[in-house]
Amino acid sequence: MIYYPAIMEKIVYFDNNATSRVAPEVADVMRPFFGELYGNPSSMHAFGGQVAKFVTRAREEVAAFLNCSPEEVIFTSCATESDNAAIRGTADWFGTGTKVITTAVEHPAVLQPCRRLKALGHTVVELPVDGVGQIDLDRLRAELKGTQHALVSIMWANNETGTVFPIEKIADICREYGAVFHTDAVQVAGKIPVDVTKVPVDLLAMSGHKFHAPKGIGILYVRKGTKLKPFLLGGHQEAGRRAGTENVPYIVGLAKACELARIGMAEEAVQITALRDRLEAGILAKCPNVRVNGDRNHRLPNTLNVSFEYIEGEAIAYRLSDLGICISTGSACASGSLDPSHVIRAMGVPFIAVHGSVRFSLSRYNTMEEVDYVLDRLPPVIRNLRELSPFGPDTDPTTFK
Ligand SMILES: *Cc1c(COP(=O)(O)O)cnc(C)c1O
Repeated sequence: MIYYPAIMEKIVYFDNNATSRVAPEVADVMRPFFGELYGNPSSMHAFGGQVAKFVTRAREEVAAFLNCSPEEVIFTSCATESDNAAIRGTADWFGTGTKVITTAVEHPAVLQPCRRLKALGHTVVELPVDGVGQIDLDRLRAELKGTQHALVSIMWANNETGTVFPIEKIADICREYGAVFHTDAVQVAGKIPVDVTKVPVDLLAMSGHKFHAPKGIGILYVRKGTKLKPFLLGGHQEAGRRAGTENVPYIVGLAKACELARIGMAEEAVQITALRDRLEAGILAKCPNVRVNGDRNHRLPNTLNVSFEYIEGEAIAYRLSDLGICISTGSACASGSLDPSHVIRAMGVPFIAVHGSVRFSLSRYNTMEEVDYVLDRLPPVIRNLRELSPFGPDTDPTTFK
């Protein structure tokens, strides 16, 4: 547990799909670049050239993490930029007449640029999902049939439910139909192995702050030969594919996070799964009228999305926040609106459970002690909120819209 006496006595952080703590090892390797190593990697002098070597080495480390070549790695400011660059850049190359196929459960960083392309005259299809959040691959094939220029953008794993898509199969289908395939792989980074020699994606986005690097640094993987117009214009950096002076400290930090993930992931996944499964089993045992959302057979090791029927997720999150427990409803990017999560709704979860969905997302820094703390504090909160709720198992379901 982390102690912040000035803010709160105790914080249990179970919101790692929103953002994660910077690893101390990452902070350490970044420090010199805020001090003596401030040169511009593009400068002609040796002082800048010295810094450029660190960027080169960082690119090699990221490439080792993805099992690609360093020339295929572009550093961006965040995954939102990577997603926008992949989607807009592909459509820009093909011109109007591009068919864009995505899913109803993507992050807004994918959905919004796709909707912009639709407004610009492209054809855009959002594939529906089933009750566990999976798409129908035959439907994908049907949409791809006969296309000239198609871009498919499907996330590797969902940020709200942890549902993992069959990315290898989807990539194979895209290959078969000659479509460009982009995947938002933000939530799999550091959680499950990513190897682009095994999974033939053309474009892939990741974000540093979701796996213990700082906020404000992202990766865009671009397979050699993929046609793409640059999104940011104005400089020759990143081989002319992403203009702007390199964010050297963050690039070096991101590479360290990749190295930590590459080395530690297999062991951490076992440990984190054990914590998540204990949390899940405890909630199901202690709280009635609970359902687990997402695909329990294909799920990220760290994510648990549950609906507490007849009460509101926001109320649960606020009550837990008072107890120093950080969780979320829907995605951080959608909160602030009172609409229920587009992901949970797309899965066809019944009305009475849609509003009561909350997400617990763990990391390598969580402990069994923290899980037990939550299992101790959560059930009384649920009981109390249910006492206050006008709804319950006896409510006439026809009163709900
Ligand atoms: C967090 C997240 C993003 C956005 O990443 P940023 O680096 O914060 O822009 C995109 N997609 C998914 C699935 C995410 O979870």
